[in-house]
Amino acid sequence: MIAEPDGPEDRLRRFATIWSRAVFPVTSTSLTRPEFEERLLPLARRLSQALHARPLDADEGRAVGAGLVTAHCTDPEALSRTLDCVDAYLVLYCGAGGDQEELRARCSRLQHAMAAGFAQALRERTLAEQEAISAAALQAQGVVAQALHATEARFRAVFEGAAIGIGMADLEGNILQVNGALLRMFGHSEQNLRARNVKEWTHPEDAPQTWTLYEELVRGEREHYHLEKAFYRPDGTVLWTNLTVSLLRDADGNPQYQLALMEDTTERRLLNLRLRYEATHDALTGLPNRTFFFERLEKALGAGQSQRFGLCYLDLDGFKTVNDSLGHAAGDRLLVEVADRLQSCATAPGEMVARLGGDEFVALTTGPDTEREVDELAARIMNALLAPISIDGRELTVRGSIGIVEGPAGTRSPAEVLRSADITMYRAKSAGGNRFELADEEADARAITRHGLTTALPAALERGEFFIEYQPLVHLGDGSVRGAEALVRWLHPQHGVLGPDRFIPLAEHTGLIVPLGRWVLEQSVRQARAWRERYDDAGPLRINVNLSPCQLTHPGLVQDTVDILERAGVEPEALCLEVTESALIGADDDLLKPLRRLAEMGVDIALDDFGTGYSNLANLRRLPVSILKLDRSFTQSMQQFPADPVDLKIVEGIVSLAHSLDLAVTVEGVETGAQAEQLRILGCDTAQGWYYARPGPPDRLHELALIDATG
Ligand code: C2E
Ligand code: CA
Ligand code: CA
Repeated sequence: MIAEPDGPEDRLRRFATIWSRAVFPVTSTSLTRPEFEERLLPLARRLSQALHARPLDADEGRAVGAGLVTAHCTDPEALSRTLDCVDAYLVLYCGAGGDQEELRARCSRLQHAMAAGFAQALRERTLAEQEAISAAALQAQGVVAQALHATEARFRAVFEGAAIGIGMADLEGNILQVNGALLRMFGHSEQNLRARNVKEWTHPEDAPQTWTLYEELVRGEREHYHLEKAFYRPDGTVLWTNLTVSLLRDADGNPQYQLALMEDTTERRLLNLRLRYEATHDALTGLPNRTFFFERLEKALGAGQSQRFGLCYLDLDGFKTVNDSLGHAAGDRLLVEVADRLQSCATAPGEMVARLGGDEFVALTTGPDTEREVDELAARIMNALLAPISIDGRELTVRGSIGIVEGPAGTRSPAEVLRSADITMYRAKSAGGNRFELADEEADARAITRHGLTTALPAALERGEFFIEYQPLVHLGDGSVRGAEALVRWLHPQHGVLGPDRFIPLAEHTGLIVPLGRWVLEQSVRQARAWRERYDDAGPLRINVNLSPCQLTHPGLVQDTVDILERAGVEPEALCLEVTESALIGADDDLLKPLRRLAEMGVDIALDDFGTGYSNLANLRRLPVSILKLDRSFTQSMQQFPADPVDLKIVEGIVSLAHSLDLAVTVEGVETGAQAEQLRILGCDTAQGWYYARPGPPDRLHELALIDATG
């Protein structure tokens, strides 16, 4: 069967159908399902438009959330199903013509706004209803009083017609009359209820004033009172109500009966609890989130004298690699497993674990004795991470770096404590990771904070604080310089020269890597041009430029590269882009397309740090690469003499496979002549390393090339 191609209106309609099917069963409405769908359709249309509107207008999401309440979808389940449905289908049916990744992000913001709008509308409605109930109570008081003096039949009519629960009791609390709504709320038979006394209905969660108010009323000292009150149903479940009790007086004004009006708020309460839970917990791991953690930390820091706190700030080592190479789904599973393990480390009273975001977690301990406890806590956490985590049949080793802050309550703000913990964690990471460090105020002051660097990055690019060093690539056969790799550095006004390992991850995290990478490419290509002009005899010098995974997915990559080459008048063959192995593992054709385009134009693509990821050699065939750059670790293992025969075999194997696939092999980190010789014998083509030259200014390369051309 061939389906007619759908127009946008058809797809919108389909979305509304799915939505109404999901929500209709949990909506108390007199509409039929198709009628109900008609009511959802305008809401669906608003969502669809909001999905594409620029800038994104969260108010639209909130309005749709409120619209649900208006459409009587007040059951918490209705919201939950709505959000699921929007999550799964909105982008699918209404997202044509946009960047899918971006639409997904917008969609999730709309969902948040919808949940907020829903909660807000429900709250407002409750307030309005409470007022209506109070009004009804007064009215009912009048009506019932009249009815009492009138006929029994009219009296019952008032009772039965009401949508809220109504019950009447005498001043001793014996129940005389109840209406159908109240029976349904309690799940009791009328006989059953009428045999009860109001005073039996105590509940552990009764507000302290509940029974005082009651006594005052039946003594005739107050006309009515209003409370939230819980009742046990006969099946043991709990019914929450908005309860209004009024005193009914006889014709002479003497207290005679009490009249209770109750509205069932059980569901709404559950929803509020759930919204509170969702606002304070991380959706992926179920751990308390940043908000919740800050509340607890604030409390701990505000605790009285002799109280202390201890905080472990954990960041996983190398989590990004897992995410990049195995995909986000695997990364998520890893985080869930880590969260479970952490949770089991902090089970004592006063302890908690939270996820701050990404791969950052915290564990908090409070009490008088945290000096000792926090060390034990950190040790427990390190221990819990020891066993490998199995994901997709792979055993992943997880390591983490922990920054510990411990101290007396009442001296610092939560933000200060967290900052100190973050700096300390970073110190643990710089010391090689897989360890914990204790905060030290002096070290804090000296430490370059990631926050500081991250916020300084954009201005640094504008102010021209970056510069590039070039490290020659040497042909192993004849020792000639063939080109150079561009390696970026940051001349920081306070901290001096920072290596890329210090700021590239931050630039990737904030997206600055795209303009920074473009700048590096532009500078390097211009440099290649300058080399050519000043010095052409030794053959053209090629330039290698590193690309981050984020640049790979950036839509402007191909066009930017073409423009840069054209502007500098450099042919594509002179450029080699280095992409790490981990960025390409599991890459689908969409991701490879820009690289393939560049390769077709003549740009070389090198697979950087080869041998550090999990890639499958057979996979190389489908990648548009022409050069393998063997990771430094292979070269390092050749430092001792004689070199490990297994390592030699591995390198030999890789080289012969690479050559059979028409790939050239470059080795990195060559520090001695012996290594260079060994690698040459193994068949490697080009080498790079301190043995030849450290990365340096562009003129140095010039000199080197000159030497080997003349000597
Ligand atoms: P990489 O691409 O593997 O670069 C080679 C690194 O090895 C450089 O470190 C280089 O200084 C160092 N190296 C070179 N020869 C030797 C040697 O004989 N022995 C030892 N021990 N090390 C040697 P560097 O400059 O710190 O760069 C680190 C990483 O930062 C690079 O690793 C690259 O992944 C990244 N990077 C550098 N520049 C850029 C850039 O412009 N853009 C992006 N996205 N990443 C960059
Ligand atoms: Ca590189
Ligand atoms: Ca490398």
